[in-house]
Amino acid sequence: EANKRIAVVTGGNKGIGLEICKELAANGVGVVLTARDEKRGNEAVDKLTADYGFTNIIFHQLDVTDHSSIASLADFVKNQFGKLDILVNNAAITGVELSQPIDEKLPQPERAELFHKYIVQIFVQSYEKAVDCLKTNYYGVKYMMEAFLPLLLLSNAGRIVNVSSNQGQLQGLTNNKLRKELEDIDNLTVERIDHLTNSFPKHVRDNTLEEGGWPPRFSAYRASKVLMNAYTRIIAKRYPSVTINCVNPGYVGTDLNYNTGALTVSEGAQGPVMVALAEGGPTGQFYDQTQLSIF
Ligand code: NDP
Repeated sequence: EANKRIAVVTGGNKGIGLEICKELAANGVGVVLTARDEKRGNEAVDKLTADYGFTNIIFHQLDVTDHSSIASLADFVKNQFGKLDILVNNAAITGVELSQPIDEKLPQPERAELFHKYIVQIFVQSYEKAVDCLKTNYYGVKYMMEAFLPLLLLSNAGRIVNVSSNQGQLQGLTNNKLRKELEDIDNLTVERIDHLTNSFPKHVRDNTLEEGGWPPRFSAYRASKVLMNAYTRIIAKRYPSVTINCVNPGYVGTDLNYNTGALTVSEGAQGPVMVALAEGGPTGQFYDQTQLSIF
């Protein structure tokens, strides 16, 4: 039908993003499942179509770190649908590698324990990995929002769901100065957030995170979610006719955490899907799974 809602989901080929695509489609939304890799994306669409008989999911390539890829997706959505109703910014990378592999055969509690030990004790951040992580998780979301806001404004109920993390909540910033600055949305600027983003990898390289206002050993992943949250709040204020929120899916077993997460993808997708499909509701907020929470 002409007034069918249309959604774009980033990183839709696997994990929580794939589940979000499935559930949006099951709710009658026309879904553009996107993936940076054509093959992985097409296979995901083919599988959803074969398993559930969906006729309302299509694939389009999207690498959120590539401006021309974002622009061609925006052109496609504009030409095909003339508007966008729902944008789910789900794609992200961790920016760290484990220094030892995790034995896939270990039972769940031990696997999770090992993962935390490695992440907390042995993770070594590099400048390059921090740059990649912020490029994907912060700038990827920023550029997607910039490219799709004009199309979301053409919907009568445009919504953006930014998949965030409890790792990006402000309580994790032990330095009061930076926390207060990021809390003060009325005085915070996008330029300042960009500056904090651009300087983060240098602080990692030079071992000066604390001088930059960050907690010691803070990860680029955590910083990317903190900064994405702050950006989301500014844009939500600027565009009151679009509903723009962040959602922590919970700790979900996916490739991102070597399948150590305790929740299933269906449990993890619940919050993002609920916020994507809601009618009305608050904007510029942080949801912890399905519960309204604080940044
Ligand atoms: P996965 O690693 O399973 O999936 C990540 C997805 O993002 C993949 O489809 C991946 O594509 C895609 N992606 C990565 N880089 C890019 C890029 N440059 N352009 C487009 N797509 C890209 O992770 P999850 O499903 O666990 O994570 C989804 C979201 O949930 C993330 O935002 C994550 O931070 C958040 N989250 C997850 C938690 C968890 O416990 N799992 C907890 C808190 C938050 P490809 O297959 O090509 O690599």
